[in-house]
Amino acid sequence: MLNARWIGFAAMIGFAQLYAQDSEQAAPILCQGNYHSEAEAIEQLGRMAATYSNLSEWNDRAAKVRQQILEGAKLVPFPNRTPLNPIVRNKRDFAGYSVESVAFEALPGFLAYGNLYRPLGKPGPHPAVLCPHGHARGPSGGRLRADQQYRCATLARMGAVVFSYDMIGFGESLFHGWDHQHKQALTLQTWTSIRAIDFLQSMPDVDGKRIGVTGCSGGGTQTFLLTAVDDRVTVSVPVVMVSAHFFGGCHCESGMPIHQTRDLETNNAEIAALAAPRPQLLVSVGGDWTKNTPVVEYPYIRNVYSLFGEQAKVGNVHYPGREHGYQYLKRQAMYPFMVKHLKLDPTGVFNAETELYDETQTVIEAPKEMYVFDESHPYPTTALKPNSKVDI
Ligand SMILES: [Zn+2]
Repeated sequence: MLNARWIGFAAMIGFAQLYAQDSEQAAPILCQGNYHSEAEAIEQLGRMAATYSNLSEWNDRAAKVRQQILEGAKLVPFPNRTPLNPIVRNKRDFAGYSVESVAFEALPGFLAYGNLYRPLGKPGPHPAVLCPHGHARGPSGGRLRADQQYRCATLARMGAVVFSYDMIGFGESLFHGWDHQHKQALTLQTWTSIRAIDFLQSMPDVDGKRIGVTGCSGGGTQTFLLTAVDDRVTVSVPVVMVSAHFFGGCHCESGMPIHQTRDLETNNAEIAALAAPRPQLLVSVGGDWTKNTPVVEYPYIRNVYSLFGEQAKVGNVHYPGREHGYQYLKRQAMYPFMVKHLKLDPTGVFNAETELYDETQTVIEAPKEMYVFDESHPYPTTALKPNSKVDI
């Protein structure tokens, strides 16, 4: 028979557990920045790898990781796919490609800003490539950066329709008053990427079954998160970001509980593995948190691909002496992978003697030339006020 003291003690334990649960719900587990040491990251990969030994078990785990990302990012259920109401204007023709300025409503009144690079003189239907960007600031930061323009123009000259778009609080989003510290940044950026695929697939000359994505640093985070949650992405090239010990230093990468809950732990190497069996290239360098990729993250991810019998679909190009960023050499690593898997036409761009892709036809534009809105094309009155909470 239970005595009253025991019942009281049990009630206290129950209360403590309940309280702990409430506390955890109130304070989600965030894995931010260098959340792990490199050694702890290797141990974590070992624990995760021990949870599956065949394709069926991996698929079960992958579904749970995908669901955790979406729930952590507050994208369950998905918002309604409301009309994009795209504005596409100011076409500029260059050698082998054109650029237009684009805005669309990712959510009612919440605008995505970008540039659309199209091939000239190549027959369609065209594959499409999304180009998110990282956190480099300055007057020509984000999608306005020269390295971003080289990448987009060169892919377009090889036959891709390329969409390059602002993170919240960068480029034209910043110009119109939005702050990158917006609390919903991770939610809004991920949803904007999903809607950017909708936008590209809405074009009659785009082959909606050939969709690539590539970005570096914070744009690398957007690349592997989008690939993880949207199976319309068919080729993924995250650059200098896939790391088992570094989770991204910005709240738009790791400020919501996508990596760890009481039920499941994961990290960005495993999130990148959710791309399997779709073609994926990891570009890494010795000078940042991707320094261990050839011996830590890549083997873990390749093992997942091996469960599909598709090891050949994943690759790693590593530059031990190089630093963070999406500079010329990293772009030269990405181009052939996109050419191969998106069936681009490198004629006139690839030089067989040097084995390099020519970027010299890119015209680097000034920010104001790339903007969507100006005095004669005023900012829509229906747009949300900057830094509003956005209804999801
Ligand atoms: Zn950020």
